[in-house]
Amino acid sequence: MFNSVIDAIGNTPLIRLRRASEETGCEILGKAEFMNPGQSVKDRAGLFIIRDAEKRGLLRPGGVIVEGTAGNTGIGLTVVAKALGYRTVIVIPDTQSQEKKDALRLLGAELIEVPAVPYKNPNNYVKVSGRLAEQLAKTEPAGAIWANQFDNVANRDGHIVTTAQEIWDQTGGKVHGFVSAVGTGGTLAGVAAGLKGKSKDVKIAIADPLGAALFSFYTDGVLKSEGSSITEGIGQGRITANLEGFTPEFAYQVPDEEALPIIFDLVQEEGLCLGGSTGINIAGAIRLAKDLGPGHTIVTILCDYGTRYQSKLFNPDFLRTKNLPIPQWMDRTPEIDV
Ligand code: PMP
Repeated sequence: MFNSVIDAIGNTPLIRLRRASEETGCEILGKAEFMNPGQSVKDRAGLFIIRDAEKRGLLRPGGVIVEGTAGNTGIGLTVVAKALGYRTVIVIPDTQSQEKKDALRLLGAELIEVPAVPYKNPNNYVKVSGRLAEQLAKTEPAGAIWANQFDNVANRDGHIVTTAQEIWDQTGGKVHGFVSAVGTGGTLAGVAAGLKGKSKDVKIAIADPLGAALFSFYTDGVLKSEGSSITEGIGQGRITANLEGFTPEFAYQVPDEEALPIIFDLVQEEGLCLGGSTGINIAGAIRLAKDLGPGHTIVTILCDYGTRYQSKLFNPDFLRTKNLPIPQWMDRTPEIDV
């Protein structure tokens, strides 16, 4: 029995991805982070950031947690905050899926939508959330903190202590590679540090979507980006504090055209309905498997659940506007008459 929803965060299963494993001759395993109570990998960051603020004496009962987020961190923070008696004020770029915004409102977050502008713009959602936290810290009776997931390394620590340890235990130490995309970098840098702490031989790879700058950084040393991706929650343009000191052995740039068919096949053939960043991750795992050769065990992250993107990733009209591949099954009306 769990004392509260908080105890249900983490200890997610590893699920063997059949097709990816068969295609590569490796064991490709997905850490089922969509099974967290907030349905994403970001519940762990939410929990560790809040616990860290409590330890530092920054949060008092009724206090406010402010964050700029593509959605999932806001959901994770809000689930934990509600269970512990805090409020959340969430700043989200208006380009993020309606489903994530609806979930945030439903869970009781106070939601502020802002236009999506680049990080260097002072009106970027991350910077708006930082300023708002500063203001609320002065006016809220129980105070306010800025979760600051990008540069708050409590995020990365959560993955060192929990995700990496779980992967090590669940594979019995038989893990040869780990790969993931980056939003804040907490997952990739945290799991990498945790696994390297167990064995220096574990190979680490970053899978970067188009429009992100890390692939070029880790291959050429320059932060440069081109193109775009419909995936949400990933695609970083700078070295966040969570990424400091981190270097992957392999770097892959994965276009949506490679990632989305993987996501669509998983729905039809493996009963797994997952978000776009998971497609980038699995495409990265397949590339790492090919680089390492058959017989290796590679772990990646199944970041969040697909229903969060029903109006975009799983909507043929939306895919058509982006000139992206549409699987036949998605674009057809049922043939069974009743
Ligand atoms: N996938 C999704 C759907 C996300 O929301 C996030 C977090 N923004 C990530 C992947 C990346 O996780 P991290 O922030 O730990 O790099």
